Amino acid sequence: MTTAPPTHTTPFDAATASDAYRSALAVIGAVEPRVAAAIGQELTDQRESLKLIASENYASPAVLLTMGNWFSDKYAEGTVGHRFYAGCQNVDTVESLAAEHARELFGAPYAYVQPHSGIDANLVAFWAVLAQRVELPALEKAGAKHVNDLTDADWATLRRALGDQRMLGMSLDAGGHLTHGFRPNISGKMFEQSSYGTDPATELLDYDAVRARAREFKPLIMMAGYSAYPRRVNFATMREIADEVGATFVVDMAHFAGLVAGKVLTGDFDPVPHAHVVTSTSHKSLRGPRGGFVLAQPEFADAVDRGCPMVLGGPLPHVMAAKAVAFAEARQPSFAGYAQAVADNAQSLAEGLSSRGARLVTGGTDNHLVLLDVTAFGLTGRQAESALLDAGIVTNRNAIPSDPNGAWYTSGVRLGTPALTTRGFGAAEFDRTAELIVDVLKGATPTATRDGGVSKAKYVLTDGLADRTRAATAELLAAHPLYPGLDLA
Ligand SMILES: *Cc1c(COP(=O)(O)O)cnc(C)c1O
Repeated sequence: MTTAPPTHTTPFDAATASDAYRSALAVIGAVEPRVAAAIGQELTDQRESLKLIASENYASPAVLLTMGNWFSDKYAEGTVGHRFYAGCQNVDTVESLAAEHARELFGAPYAYVQPHSGIDANLVAFWAVLAQRVELPALEKAGAKHVNDLTDADWATLRRALGDQRMLGMSLDAGGHLTHGFRPNISGKMFEQSSYGTDPATELLDYDAVRARAREFKPLIMMAGYSAYPRRVNFATMREIADEVGATFVVDMAHFAGLVAGKVLTGDFDPVPHAHVVTSTSHKSLRGPRGGFVLAQPEFADAVDRGCPMVLGGPLPHVMAAKAVAFAEARQPSFAGYAQAVADNAQSLAEGLSSRGARLVTGGTDNHLVLLDVTAFGLTGRQAESALLDAGIVTNRNAIPSDPNGAWYTSGVRLGTPALTTRGFGAAEFDRTAELIVDVLKGATPTATRDGGVSKAKYVLTDGLADRTRAATAELLAAHPLYPGLDLA
């Protein structure tokens, strides 16, 4: 008797799901067969790749199927029970369900599930804070109820005030995100930005330095959250700092929402009880549909509700429905087991890499990701990313603190465990993965440039190494199939 490999995929009936996808692809293929073929090929490719991209995951068939229907056709600007279009009763049902599940899942007083993505969730949050803290006092002062009631002179004053605010966030090379006030994103054009980084010696967040920076800079918004910091953040301490300087504390948990939902991050490390506003994606460690959402303390709820049409286009009812399904899945006890496995697996991956001589930023991890410094292998992040991809291992290059190679070539590779944990990888598989990664990086040599230097992009791999590694990853993946039993043929 063979036992099925352990998996953290939300259980589904494989025969029913296979029928559903076969029928769907037949309908799609009758119109544009190349799209149906690409959808099928995407499943094959995802099944065959060792996905260590820290921001990706595999949503359940239930979540995915919820997105392909006539909810997509509905306009539903406004909020539940207060729409600018007729006939939104079923949208109201799914939006209420998604919000209710989100509130219960995260223990939040208020949830807004309309944002289309993480970036959009942040924009909603930023404008909600501006509305609450800058616009509202200006309206009160002018004795007006609505911006349209302001005199032209008052409106000009308010516009200047809105454009003259400050945001403090984690620096990009410490793992922060572009949307936390950096110039390539609109947040960097809306706000005067300043950053806090990590301690150069320990590479850990230095809360005293954050406090000093906050006191000096006096931001309207203090951001926490990251996409490449491999450690927990003490949100209770960050809130104390925000309170001390009169800042509104916004946490972007886009990356680690699954660890919050699964109660791996609790107490001081759970952002929800400490932040005024929390923003997130739903598709990363949380394993839902591609989208965003906002949680808020009651005093910000009305302002957050105005996200559409303030900064968002009409809501995506099919995606809100899928959020409701995903949040319901995350409320199952099995999801906590998944989240704990994601964190345990990150430990195994980190130990597997360190014990083979690799250097990890901060020396390890206590969340779902590991940041590997590849300089000791004589490589840039770009070379490491490409060499690993040649060998069938999918990662992404990432800057490390004070990166000597800048933001394009970088010196790091970011590795995350959420996706492979969904497939059922455990400690042994992640140790083997670490071994394969180190072998590939040791077997990659940068090529010389014509002027006698060393290339930051080109490299050669030891003969046969890519094929050998591909065979080894194929073996690991075959033992842990993606969507076990799902068959499109
Ligand atoms: C991924 C991410 C986002 C952006 O999410 P999108 O859905 O791609 O817009 C925002 N903030 C952080 C911290 C992220 O990691």
